[in-house]
Amino acid sequence: RAKAAGRNTFRFYSPEMNATAQPNLILETDLRKAVSREQLVLHYQPQIDLRTGQMVGAEALLRWSKPGVGLVSPAVFLPLAEESGLIVEIGAWVLGEACSQAMVWRERGLPPMRIAVNLSPVQFLRQDLVQLVADTLAKTGLEPDQLELELTESSLLDDIGRTTETLNRLKKLGVKVSVDDFGIGYSSLTYVKNFPVDRLKIDRSFISSLTTNSRDDAIVRAISGLAGSLGVKMIAEGVETPQQLEWLKAIGCHEAQGYLFSRPVPAKDFEDLLKAPGILTI
Ligand code: C2E
Ligand code: MG
Ligand code: MG
Ligand code: MG
Repeated sequence: RAKAAGRNTFRFYSPEMNATAQPNLILETDLRKAVSREQLVLHYQPQIDLRTGQMVGAEALLRWSKPGVGLVSPAVFLPLAEESGLIVEIGAWVLGEACSQAMVWRERGLPPMRIAVNLSPVQFLRQDLVQLVADTLAKTGLEPDQLELELTESSLLDDIGRTTETLNRLKKLGVKVSVDDFGIGYSSLTYVKNFPVDRLKIDRSFISSLTTNSRDDAIVRAISGLAGSLGVKMIAEGVETPQQLEWLKAIGCHEAQGYLFSRPVPAKDFEDLLKAPGILTI
């Protein structure tokens, strides 16, 4: 398009272009600063075993503590982190931080928690992912089966051969793998057919209208049946009401996570939950 505009038109300096280019530029610079100035934090949200009512895991959720702004949601900065490649550094930090935190709780004598870490497709497709996970486990001392990696469909289906190989190598390490936001993609059934995953994490959109929409009800029942037949665990995300909880228990869903139990909270507050596990008992 620059060519078509003619030789002597300085398109790259046009004010309109600056106006659109600038916000990204600023954000990326800010995000770089966030990484180097340690403005990233993890919050933790409990995962509850629906048979025992006990907390069995924690999902680590990233936040950017931006000076003068407050906590920025990953939904806002993840796309940029992925585009810019910064997600590689950020993701490695998240993995290390979550595993060390789990060990800190362990060393304080608190009940052991499985820790779930979200992986970006960009991370998952890197050659050095398995090595990074192995190194992080070695460095922190966390048992491999206490770490669960949450993947989305966008990672899993890019290349079935390569995905299978990476998942098998992760399995060999002993870490768990779950499919996040299960059910909303186009190919949910393709990956339960092809890939050795340990858990299906049913997307919040099915849970929110579970007790009012008979189709969502039918879909979640079907996923539950599928998980049962395949010998895969199932967790529901975004559980907000006692009615949803009762319904999930009734169909035999294994675990749940959502505001009904607790919002994602800073490590210090999560530690309080660990010290008083009765609070969340259902
Ligand atoms: P996700 O992995 O599906 O995480 C669940 C999201 O739902 C979280 O949003 C959580 O705060 C929110 N949530 C939990 N319970 C409820 C509930 O009962 N009701 C409602 N309405 N929402 C609930 P959050 O923390 O804003 O994270 C958004 C997404 O960002 C995550 O979705 C995940 O895909 C991504 N993400 C978060 N942390 C990381 C990370 O460290 N690395 C990568 N690559 N992605 C991350
Ligand atoms: Mg997740
Ligand atoms: Mg999810
Ligand atoms: Mg989700």
